[in-house]
Amino acid sequence: MRASSAAWLQALEFSAMNLNLTVLMYHYVRDAGDAAEAGSGIRGMSKQKFCAQVDTIARTYEMVSWKDVREAVLEKKPLPERACLLTFDDGVCDHYWNVFPELARRKLSGLFFALARAEDANLPLPFKLHFLIARLGLENLRAEIWNRLNEAQRAIYRDAEARYRLRGKAETDVVKGIFQRDLADAVNPLLSELIAQHIGSEQELARQLFLNDAQIKEMRAGGMHFGGHSATHPWFDFISPAQRADEIRASREGLTRVEQPPFAFAYPYGGLADDAPQLFQQNHFCAAFTTRASVTHADPFYIGRFDGEEWQ
Ligand SMILES: [Zn+2]
Repeated sequence: MRASSAAWLQALEFSAMNLNLTVLMYHYVRDAGDAAEAGSGIRGMSKQKFCAQVDTIARTYEMVSWKDVREAVLEKKPLPERACLLTFDDGVCDHYWNVFPELARRKLSGLFFALARAEDANLPLPFKLHFLIARLGLENLRAEIWNRLNEAQRAIYRDAEARYRLRGKAETDVVKGIFQRDLADAVNPLLSELIAQHIGSEQELARQLFLNDAQIKEMRAGGMHFGGHSATHPWFDFISPAQRADEIRASREGLTRVEQPPFAFAYPYGGLADDAPQLFQQNHFCAAFTTRASVTHADPFYIGRFDGEEWQ
């Protein structure tokens, strides 16, 4: 292991590269009432829109797999002109029910960034927000949380709110940003309380939402690839270096059962941290994908992507 990882680390040094690659990023792909949506009310890109988009892209681009991109990064093996890679974040079951069959039918491969999680684990914070916003609406959820905050926490809320508004963030992103970042530790258990009160068993929701080991195995056998996306989906610019190291290590441990190293990673929310590339290298990752739209990539740990929902 040591020799081979040293070899690919060395390869990386040479690959201060100029990769030309269009990478698309998708999240939920579902329709109301289907197996993925499962009555949750959480919306996503419709399956019809997704399929039409994949057909258009496959006509105008040379579709490549993670294996091709990995060879391009590690060995400088050239990619075709107008190369395109499809990526899918969060390891949600939409990717098994609605994406995998469509890609397999078209003989295409996708790269799926799944969270490192135990099958009996609860929901990471952003997914609690998805369920609760779908059930209660953003304003009701905000009020329910506000009522449960103490004065010190409300002061943090007001301060963060002012800062995010100054940056011109949409009101939904202001509230989500405060819950995901500034008040994450306080809000996380409150969200679990609200899920138990308004929806039901959080563990059961998580079990239905995320890909299970059998589905991942089947997708791998069907030509799909997996990458890391952390364990708890935090903002990397908002947690400590030790937490970042834990999150990346958890991804590596989860992926070892599924993929050949070196692995790929996608930054949760696209949040960046300067020490992340070094942590990736220490944990056998050779590439990391951001949410910054770009077709050329000079650094394998900052490969830009386009959001499929906004793609023309
Ligand atoms: Zn994500």
